[in-house]
Amino acid sequence: MRQISRPLLIITLSLIAAACTQIGSRTQDSAAGDAHPDSRASSPAPAARQSKSYPARHNNPQNSHWGYTGSEGPEEWANLNPAYQLCEKGHAQSPVDISGVEKASLGRIRINYKSGPSNIVNNGHTVQVNMRKGSYMIVARKKYRLLQFHFHAPSEHTVNGKPADMVIHFVHQARNGKLAVLAVLLESCNENNIIGKLWRSIPLQAGDKKRLSRKINIAKLLPTRRAYYQYTGSLTTPPCTEGVNWMILKSTMTISDAQKKTFTDIFPNSVRPIQPKNDRVIKLGK
Ligand SMILES: [Zn+2]
Repeated sequence: MRQISRPLLIITLSLIAAACTQIGSRTQDSAAGDAHPDSRASSPAPAARQSKSYPARHNNPQNSHWGYTGSEGPEEWANLNPAYQLCEKGHAQSPVDISGVEKASLGRIRINYKSGPSNIVNNGHTVQVNMRKGSYMIVARKKYRLLQFHFHAPSEHTVNGKPADMVIHFVHQARNGKLAVLAVLLESCNENNIIGKLWRSIPLQAGDKKRLSRKINIAKLLPTRRAYYQYTGSLTTPPCTEGVNWMILKSTMTISDAQKKTFTDIFPNSVRPIQPKNDRVIKLGK
């Protein structure tokens, strides 16, 4: 019996793996036809008291309400506040479609994320985990401190026209103030253990903040393979500041449908439409 059961087990495991891939690609296909999030159902997402998605130094004192649909949607961002002009006038905006990639020898990404993020916030646009000092990444000998990470569903960047089901944006800052965002694409499949821990404290209302008491190993949100797409773009939210070093990991992680729904029930719209690449080249490095 044992001799029969072992191959059966292997076949069963292969089928499960294949099913995951199937689910992932099917979800991508259905989402690809809906590239413009502002054309989806209107958002009941509560307005943010104040945008805190990114470092305070990028926030204008006259912060304006903005959103993902209707009169506060991405097409109107530049009209909401003069400080948001780049959202319309910029030539190096994000997100973009990742295609026509050129291989390059970019520096490896070395991650040193510490456990124990201090709090998890609902900022009216997304769920954001603010990090204590001490977590950083090093790329091409440059050190970037991890400030916070947050989520979007589906992923803002697309790969050959297809979005992933969700994405995590790890927002870093170098000493000279330059921002670098490391993006981890999430495909619907198996439950994500770390996101499961985070979601236990997910703040439901805009402005809510909860302490994350348990130690959560943030580094486990990243795949072990670190090949990545790189280009220079912008914040994907107002004020759409440019000069952001984008690194999108090629390998993906998983999230369950239920975990994704927990997020989209709170934030049905969290995606800026794809922006023109203009003359920018996207590199693929290891
Ligand atoms: Zn983001």
